[in-house]
Amino acid sequence: MVTNRKLFFSLFGLLKLRRQRGNEWRRLVDRVNALPVDAPEVIAFRLTIDRVRRAQGEDLRACHDPFCANCVSQVVAGFEGDEKDLLALYHRNLAEVNFTIRTMRRRAVKREARPAALRRVA
Ligand SMILES: [Zn+2]
Repeated sequence: MVTNRKLFFSLFGLLKLRRQRGNEWRRLVDRVNALPVDAPEVIAFRLTIDRVRRAQGEDLRACHDPFCANCVSQVVAGFEGDEKDLLALYHRNLAEVNFTIRTMRRRAVKREARPAALRRVA
């Protein structure tokens, strides 16, 4: 598993992606690019791009690199809303990702707390 996102976001693609919207978008792209791939912010960013791409009717499997900055910037270019709309979508997805992670952790803790005999049944 590759954890260094800088290997994925080519410099060219990244520079293009950063310039596509305003300052807030640029800060988000920089932040996501600096985080490990399993950070909630990165998962939410990917989810946002996938959902926008799906809404555009694009094939999600067209590019084999899930962190291809060129494809991401194509999706952003085709997004019909403004920066505020795109960021709002991202923040909704981030809330969803954080909620899912919290729910999964709570379930894992409950599973740990169960006696071993019950764990085998479940
Ligand atoms: Zn691509």
